[in-house]
Amino acid sequence: MSAVRSREEAERDEVERLAPYAQCSAATRGRVHAEDEHAYRTAFARDRDRIVHSRAFRRLQYKTQVFVPHEGDHYRNRLSHTLEGSQIARTLARTLRLNENLAEAIVLAHDLGHTPFGHAGERVLDEVMTDDGGFDHNRQTLRIVDWLEDRYPDFRGLNLTWETREGILKHGSRWTHPVSVPEIGHQPSLEAQLADLADEIAYLNHDLDDGLRSGLLQAGQLSEVALWAEMRERVAVRFDESIDPAAQDAQVIVALINHLVTDLIETTGHALDRALPATADAVRETQGRFVKYSTETGNLKRQLKEFLYDSLYQHPAVAEVSARSAEAIAGLFKYYRDAPRELPDHVVARLPEEGEARAIADYIAGMTDRFALAEHKKLRDA
Ligand code: MG
Repeated sequence: MSAVRSREEAERDEVERLAPYAQCSAATRGRVHAEDEHAYRTAFARDRDRIVHSRAFRRLQYKTQVFVPHEGDHYRNRLSHTLEGSQIARTLARTLRLNENLAEAIVLAHDLGHTPFGHAGERVLDEVMTDDGGFDHNRQTLRIVDWLEDRYPDFRGLNLTWETREGILKHGSRWTHPVSVPEIGHQPSLEAQLADLADEIAYLNHDLDDGLRSGLLQAGQLSEVALWAEMRERVAVRFDESIDPAAQDAQVIVALINHLVTDLIETTGHALDRALPATADAVRETQGRFVKYSTETGNLKRQLKEFLYDSLYQHPAVAEVSARSAEAIAGLFKYYRDAPRELPDHVVARLPEEGEARAIADYIAGMTDRFALAEHKKLRDA
């Protein structure tokens, strides 16, 4: 056996090692623009690498998840959120004998289309784009990977495989899109299904962590959250009361991630063992999702999510930042609509092809938080 594993061998390994309902690389429906296969990387490994090397991926570092970055260097941004989500997805995929590279690629891409300032920015952009087709971050992610990234001379975008694009798109498309959009079945692949929930596990837990660290949430408030209280009891068995409260909270979060991941693996594993879908396409033709929590954990997770919505995402301090951010995005959009020649040359060049509103929305959506704030300040002071 050679020391170097070829792509063909890697593909054969997948067929032997993964479950029959996993999405194998060799069975990909391929890319919009035909390309030669790589000597040793599989199609999905290559997708993942292209995403990590994209400009949009690097900008995630300066985009907010919940807190604005200048409030402290310890809080999550979209890049750290994405990395936490992707490692959860890899554990889920590996343990369920699914395609780890595909799940990882989907999670690494899933937030590329977010505007600066998280959902506050997205809402405003959707509003001001009402007459021009609206704005949605999943659609924008697909626009970035299919159209807006320009690293390759032979095609627009990153030319990712059908399966990674299916996972990014999630629910089918009601929009016009420059490249043919994957036809989504009843469900996407199992890798895409688990990517969705890995994203959710990541943000629920790190938002709890950031919420406590910032003082916007108090540990006392959390005693009303059943899942938190249960994990806290588990942790208390292992540590006496003398340990530092911050370390205790951190251990509760460790236990919580582990609990959610374990429940998801076991519940999904049972469902797959019972149904034994014959192929990845049989999964796509199934009405319900296989990747899910037990009823009990699902309900408890919902309660935790509602708590975070009420106590953190709607917290007056967060709402105030959101309102200011929304104002900046709306201000930028109006300014560029009124004076499109003020846009940088690379955007001006795209106006005839995309139409003014869409080109401006692409430009603003691509901004980092700090760049959007600086641009907004510049035009306010002008
Ligand atoms: Mg996310």
